Amino acid sequence: MKLFQFSALFTEEGWISPAYVGINTSGEITYLDQVQPSELFPDFEKIDGYVLPGFQNAHSHAFQYGMAGMAETHMPGTDDDFWSWREAMYRCALSFSPDDMKKVAVQLYQHMLRNGYTEVAEFHYLHHDKDGKPYANLAETGTALIEAAAEAGIKITLVPVFYQRGNFGTEFYPQQRRFISATPDDYFNLLESSKKAVDYYENARLGFGVHSLRAVDAVDIIATATKGPTDLPFHIHAAEQLKELEDCRNHLGTTPVDWLLNNLDLNERFHLIHCTHLSDKELEGLARSKANVVLCPGTEGNLGDGIFRLKEYHEAGGNWSIGTDSHISLNPLEDFRWMDYAQRLMSHKRNTFADGGKTLLHQALVNGRKAMGVDNKSYFKIGSAFDAVVYNAKNLLYRQAGPDHLLPAIIYNSDSTNILGTIVAGEWIFRDAEYCPSCKQASLNY
Ligand SMILES: [Zn+2]
Repeated sequence: MKLFQFSALFTEEGWISPAYVGINTSGEITYLDQVQPSELFPDFEKIDGYVLPGFQNAHSHAFQYGMAGMAETHMPGTDDDFWSWREAMYRCALSFSPDDMKKVAVQLYQHMLRNGYTEVAEFHYLHHDKDGKPYANLAETGTALIEAAAEAGIKITLVPVFYQRGNFGTEFYPQQRRFISATPDDYFNLLESSKKAVDYYENARLGFGVHSLRAVDAVDIIATATKGPTDLPFHIHAAEQLKELEDCRNHLGTTPVDWLLNNLDLNERFHLIHCTHLSDKELEGLARSKANVVLCPGTEGNLGDGIFRLKEYHEAGGNWSIGTDSHISLNPLEDFRWMDYAQRLMSHKRNTFADGGKTLLHQALVNGRKAMGVDNKSYFKIGSAFDAVVYNAKNLLYRQAGPDHLLPAIIYNSDSTNILGTIVAGEWIFRDAEYCPSCKQASLNY
């Protein structure tokens, strides 16, 4: 039994200050109030920090962290776009053993925790051995990711995805051989093995999905979505690149999001990654369907994808969350700012959202949890695990902000150096060495 006293904690109704949070031995919140409990908690810790709910990273390809920042040198006169970046990514994918994948993922997940993420959805398609043959354990590489998450201390939702084709209707390319399942049944066998891998770690869950419309035949996308589990989140990339839209029109007679709206029963369980290019009709249909868009502004900016119509989508009532995708940036607040500032740069107005960052935090949290397969709209709830990121209350900018401006001061002004620590299920997983000398060794590892 543990009791924290924080300077303040952010809830749906605003800041609680001070905030007493009681935790049981399972890491669940048993007490939350401005008043100290009369009940005795043997462990008491007073923290001069401001608490937000831990962030959800709703879209990750862990192995791509192994090449982050390594595709930024462009030969003069060449057309270095998404598709040339993809070739570099394939070279990276072909070089990784499961052990390499685990090592890179441990580093990645530790850095996510250092930036305040407490949960990650791993959109995983690097399934097979280097020669393209399945491992004896079909979920060998998925298991490596689960082990990495357990070692780092982050919660993970493993989303093994179905990958079948090189492009719409074409054979897969040799450099994609590690990704491939030939049929929905092959994919479901992989999903079944992944289910066993998830059992290894108490903070692991399972999702499922399809890489994209270009990577799986339309009939098999429908079969996967309709015959697959009805209680797991379904993830799919959609409408990231203009060429992808053009190829989709040529092959299916329409664009990816329009096809998905017309052929799948989209609802809150579906998570469409990117959706960068939407017509008015698609934007309205998607918002109405209550499916979620997962925005990855760092990667989308890095790859030159385009700008998602966030302001219009939000005003139409659309759901969205955030992900780091290729991990070129790992700070959720930087991604929030990318999303907001792109809208401001287009509109020449500052008020993308009127509420000082609350919308950003709320959407990313509630819909990010759905991407993990967690239905919990409450920021901190009695009976739920205490997952949190704690910002340093000694920061002068935060102090001058006062309760009315504290959230925007954190969201628009912070990086990981302002974080005192990150808590998962009631335990400090990362804690800044400057504020916790006894944690120095652990911190240096980050
Ligand atoms: Zn992706």
